[in-house]
Amino acid sequence: MPKLLIIGAGGVSRVVVHKCAGLPDVFPEIMLASRTKSKCDAIAAELNRPIQTAKIDADDPAQVAALIREFGADLVVNVALPYQDLSIMDGCLEAGAHYVDTANYEPPNEAKFSYGWQWAYQDKFKEAGLLALLGSGFDPGVTGVYCAYAQKHHFDEIHEIEIIDCNAGDHGHPFATNFNPEINIREVTANGRYWENGEWVETKPMEFSQTFEFSEGIGPKKAFLIYHEELESLVKNIKGLKRIRFWMTFSDNYIKHLEVLQNVGMTSIEPINYNGQEIIPLQFLKALLPDPASLGPRTVGKTWIGCVIDGIKDGKRRRYTVYNTCDHQECFKETGAQAVSYTTGVPAMIGAKMIAEGKWTGAGVFNIEEFDPDPFMADLNAYGLPWHESIEELE
Ligand code: NDP
Repeated sequence: MPKLLIIGAGGVSRVVVHKCAGLPDVFPEIMLASRTKSKCDAIAAELNRPIQTAKIDADDPAQVAALIREFGADLVVNVALPYQDLSIMDGCLEAGAHYVDTANYEPPNEAKFSYGWQWAYQDKFKEAGLLALLGSGFDPGVTGVYCAYAQKHHFDEIHEIEIIDCNAGDHGHPFATNFNPEINIREVTANGRYWENGEWVETKPMEFSQTFEFSEGIGPKKAFLIYHEELESLVKNIKGLKRIRFWMTFSDNYIKHLEVLQNVGMTSIEPINYNGQEIIPLQFLKALLPDPASLGPRTVGKTWIGCVIDGIKDGKRRRYTVYNTCDHQECFKETGAQAVSYTTGVPAMIGAKMIAEGKWTGAGVFNIEEFDPDPFMADLNAYGLPWHESIEELE
């Protein structure tokens, strides 16, 4: 059984660490390392078994490699920020460890994300005999597994996929983000994009919206079309796809604040000079906003994240819906984190578990939908993210 190194000590990490520590047979030895060691120690103190902690600057591949060697890690789960993806992958290659993350690489000084940078590591991981599992959160992550499961069990051809992410939680703040504010705001203020009939269609930020009726007592919510990273890999990996779009709900309050912040330049990543000091407005805004980890105790309500998939089975059109709902307060009671961190951290643990147990093997860089979805789907039910499905025959 592997030695597991978890990097990053934020909201998602708290869930990954709690869940992995709860599986001593799968992860007998765990180290948690991050930029601020005291945050690692605080998480470690919540557990009912000891784990090691360390300080690391994961922007430096040499430090990542040195820590992997010192601890003897076989597997690294990266739940720091997308900026660290490549340096942690470099560290894994240098010291010989498998790699798992939940978000694709973003350069710090450019509001752009793409799998291209990480896919370029394919040959290096293959030659090293190591596995890199990309995007093992919820979206990306479980959404890709849902699509692979639909393809395996419910369709001969998949034509359309709508990925829908609804956070119907209420944290009581006028404005806050449920995960790292910098990453979240960069994502939603970028142009939207979806894929249709063989090409990408670009939209203005939040140009398209529609109201979905959500089950589980959530009711109607307005969702906006945004570009999301799993679209890039699913277009490649789900054959015959004609259209795929991603929708995320935002409250009127969130949109109102975001518009104002954007209009006054607070979401910019261009450095400005303020009283002789260079600051990046979005980073300054992050410092002002509530820490997502602090939302746990006060967030009530549910998340609903799923896929609505149209296609053909045995010559007939059908629609398949698969989703999970999570209750913020129940997640908080179990792990000390709200549901957005929970729905990301549990799949990161399951991705690591798939590799640790040898259920997912291979050398190279893989997106999650490239693996057999069945053991992952079974673990979602076993470890806190049960899914529900329905099939509508359309003709
Ligand atoms: P947080 O900001 O709460 O935590 C990030 C952690 O990474 C912090 O502990 C931070 O340290 C640490 N960190 C940052 N830079 C470095 C560095 N150079 N070296 C070492 N540690 C560093 O973020 P979240 O927990 O909300 O998110 C974690 C990841 O999960 C992100 O990549 C995010 O994009 C992804 N995510 C994925 C989702 C999915 O469904 N796929 C959904 C939500 C999030 P410090 O404490 O010192 O700041």
